[in-house]
Amino acid sequence: MDMVQAEYAVIGGSGTLSSNFPLGAKDSGVEILEDNLVFDTPYGQSPYFRLFSVDGKRVLTCRMHGWRAGVSRADASRQIFWVFREAGVKRIISEGGVGTVNHLLDPRDFVIPDDYLDLSVRKDVGLEGRYLLIMRDALCSEIREELIKLTKEEFDGRVFTRGTYAVTDGRHFESPAEIAMMKGHADIVGQSICPEVYLAREIGACYAGLYFVVNYGEGVVKEWSHKELEDIFYDDAPMISRIILNAIRHLDADGKCVCKSLRKETLLKSIYDPTDGK
Ligand SMILES: [Zn+2]
Repeated sequence: MDMVQAEYAVIGGSGTLSSNFPLGAKDSGVEILEDNLVFDTPYGQSPYFRLFSVDGKRVLTCRMHGWRAGVSRADASRQIFWVFREAGVKRIISEGGVGTVNHLLDPRDFVIPDDYLDLSVRKDVGLEGRYLLIMRDALCSEIREELIKLTKEEFDGRVFTRGTYAVTDGRHFESPAEIAMMKGHADIVGQSICPEVYLAREIGACYAGLYFVVNYGEGVVKEWSHKELEDIFYDDAPMISRIILNAIRHLDADGKCVCKSLRKETLLKSIYDPTDGK
């Protein structure tokens, strides 16, 4: 499949899964350009992508982080970001459901995190490793600001404008002891954001996400109900889709943020280039 071009990307999570993103938003500015795109990448065949436009801005999207049976999550992530880089993607928005670590949070709260804590043991989650990646301001301040503003406009519940997202490997949820260990270090817990933040920085793109609480972490406040988790996934999908589409409308392809300046050429060139350093 020939590569397509797009300056924006959306990594779909559990929030838009039920709504055939972006169609669930019923937005008259949206046009599907190409569907079921599959690309050959150095990390295996990519998941299915959809290319659409919103008010003429081109957006690539995939469902549920490209996760699928028989493909490691590290490879699924690398396939997606390899495609994003080849397509020229500059700004990436993600979304998903999370559990709580901070006992002030309740189901249906929204959080736009400003930092993360990677507790996964996934390795080999880079592309070619040519860059030194500085993970200060890992979540793009400009995209976060848009997501915060638009979520407050669309949603009359609580919107938390900062927080730390702890990432675990899954696929199971966390034990009470694991949640207790994270307390004081993180506010929410889930299984995405990493390695996506590293990969976004590696391809020189901005990355930020909109996360909504679907359950209490084990041992926090009270036992959570699977029914409520399911209801949130279905009820809130069109709203989450609208927020993301409007954020793309408002964001320029080239940000005035610091994201790009936090990727430096690596000093360890001889490791990667056998002709160097003789
Ligand atoms: Zn940025």
